[in-house]
Amino acid sequence: MSALCRHCALCCDGSLFGYVGLEPGDAERLRAKAFCLATRPGGQTVLAQPCAALTNRSCRIYESRPSHCASFNCLLATALGEEELSLGEAQEVVAEAHRRISRGHARGYLRTHFYGRYGQNHESPKL
Ligand code: SF4
Ligand code: SF4
Repeated sequence: MSALCRHCALCCDGSLFGYVGLEPGDAERLRAKAFCLATRPGGQTVLAQPCAALTNRSCRIYESRPSHCASFNCLLATALGEEELSLGEAQEVVAEAHRRISRGHARGYLRTHFYGRYGQNHESPKL
């Protein structure tokens, strides 16, 4: 897990998404670990968020997390990877996001800084 993501977890705790879509094989792996999965109205099996695998902003099943988790990068993480900003600046964006979420006014900020669509198949919750 990156130094940025370790203190963020917004893409796992329900702040950005309502669930993670699962590929064939993901669901069986998660059920084997005793995770309860949800079924969407269309019949899709998903991992609901806030994710049950998240503890202290850390994924307990990181090595065997669903493929969409493994491929997802938000806008901020992508910008950091492309050196558009420093780690310190990116961490301040995360800290500000947490502050705004705690105040209940984060929708625009999250949309601007985090909603990336790399590694699709996450769906945003109502913020
Ligand atoms: S929202 Fe972005 S920075 Fe935060 S944990 Fe997810 S990928 Fe990492
Ligand atoms: S499985 Fe891990 S990486 Fe995926 S949403 Fe849950 S805590 Fe996050």
